Amino acid sequence: MSRRSIPLTDVLHDYLLSVSLREPDLLRRLREETAADPAARMQISPEQGQFMALLVRLMGARSCLELGVFTGYSSLAVALALPDDGRILACDVSERWTAVARRYWAAAGVGHKIELRLATAMDTLERLRESGAAGRFDFAFIDADKENYVGYYERVLELLRPGGLIAIDNTLWSGRVADPENAEADTVALRHFNEHLHRDERVDLSLVPIGDGLTLVRKR
Ligand code: CA
Repeated sequence: MSRRSIPLTDVLHDYLLSVSLREPDLLRRLREETAADPAARMQISPEQGQFMALLVRLMGARSCLELGVFTGYSSLAVALALPDDGRILACDVSERWTAVARRYWAAAGVGHKIELRLATAMDTLERLRESGAAGRFDFAFIDADKENYVGYYERVLELLRPGGLIAIDNTLWSGRVADPENAEADTVALRHFNEHLHRDERVDLSLVPIGDGLTLVRKR
């Protein structure tokens, strides 16, 4: 009967977590450690991590790609959901943040599932394409710099198998995308990206209002 997604008040959000969140202890500790970092808002919410883990399990994904590791919450959530021979190729440029990620991957016993590439995501994607990796990946999470989202998306789509899924983070950008007065570079880029996806007949899509907006795209 509802025409729209229900607004999440703090009380309702707490309730949602209280009846659905099953956050492994190491993920909780990683979240608490990251909370001290001024950039902590770059971390995905625990319910989003759980949602992505569910998607990866549903798909039986084995080969994953992540652009934008930060301190490793999303990659750890996904790695824990992968079978033992599942792999994540994780791209980031920050030695400092990924050092935290690596520590938690090792502590969780999933270090062997994650290969970190410290380079710009664009370079890593180009290298993958040149190495013949097109169509190789089942699942990808795009959460790197927003101004390159269209470029990342186009390259990741080529690397994805038909039926594979791309999850793109921050597509609601704290609501700023819907404010026509907001002309910040990241806002403009995300608006352009959302419109690009909406028109893209190569994929099925859904923009899920979880966290800061998570668009799911299935390659046809
Ligand atoms: Ca993000």
